[in-house]
Amino acid sequence: SIRPLVAGNWKMNGLKGSLAEAVGVRDALAGPLASISADVMIAPPATLIAPLAEISAGSRLAVAAQDCHAKASGAHTGDVAAEMLKDAGAAAVILGHSERRADHGETNAEVKAKAAAAHRAGLIAIVCIGETQGERAAGATLKVVSRQLKNSLPEGATAANTVVAYEPVWAIGTGLTPTPADVEQVHAAIRRDLSEVTGAEGANIRILYGGSVKPDNATELMAIPNVNGALVGGASLKASDFLAILRAYE
Ligand code: 13P
Repeated sequence: SIRPLVAGNWKMNGLKGSLAEAVGVRDALAGPLASISADVMIAPPATLIAPLAEISAGSRLAVAAQDCHAKASGAHTGDVAAEMLKDAGAAAVILGHSERRADHGETNAEVKAKAAAAHRAGLIAIVCIGETQGERAAGATLKVVSRQLKNSLPEGATAANTVVAYEPVWAIGTGLTPTPADVEQVHAAIRRDLSEVTGAEGANIRILYGGSVKPDNATELMAIPNVNGALVGGASLKASDFLAILRAYE
C-alpha cells in the first residue's frame, strides 16, 4: 500500500519567516508525529530551509522547497539550484504550483525541466497540476489536468522520486473544495495517466489533494480512493491546525 504524504506549504507568509516560528512548529509536531502513519513535510520560505532542516534532523519532519531552477549552476541571479536545496537539507521541492504558473508564467515544459533537475539532485519532485474555475466550468478539467501531467512529468519518474499534487486553482485559499466524487474522478484519471506514462510505477506514485484542506474536511478528503495525502496551504500555518489534519492518518 502507498504511504501517504502530508506537506505543509507555507508559501511566502511573513509570520513564518522567523526561525523561532519554525522551532515552535518542530516542537509542536515532535511528539504527535510518532502516531501518524504518513510522511510529513513542511515547505518554508527559502531562507528557512537550512535552519528548519538542521533543527529537524533525525526527526520525522522533512523539509521541502517551493521552487528550484532547472540548471545546476550558472549566471541566474536570484535563482536557487536543486543541488543547493539538497545541500541545504531539503528532501523535496514543490514544482509548478499554480501561483508560480500564474506569477512567473511557468510552463509545463519548464516544470518538467525543474522536476528533472530535482531528480538529478536527489530531491523528490512534487509536481502540481490543476484546473482553473473557467476550465472546470467549461467541462475541461480532465483534459487540462491530463495535459499538464503528461507535459510536466520528467522521464524516469518513479514512486520514490515523484509526487503529484492535484490542486484545483479555484480551491486554493478560497475555502471551496470539489465534491468527494469530483476529487475521486480526477484522481482516478491521474492514476490512469500515471500508469500510462510511467508503467508499473504509476500504481504507486503518490497523488496528493490540495486546495482548502482543513481540519474539518481532511478525514473525508483523505479517505477518497487514490488520494494519498494532502498539500496544505493556509491550515499548515498553525501547528494545531496542521496537526489536526495529520490526525486523518492516526
Ligand atoms: P490552501 O490550503 O490555503 O487552500 O492552499 C493550498 C495550496 O496551494 C498548497 O500548495
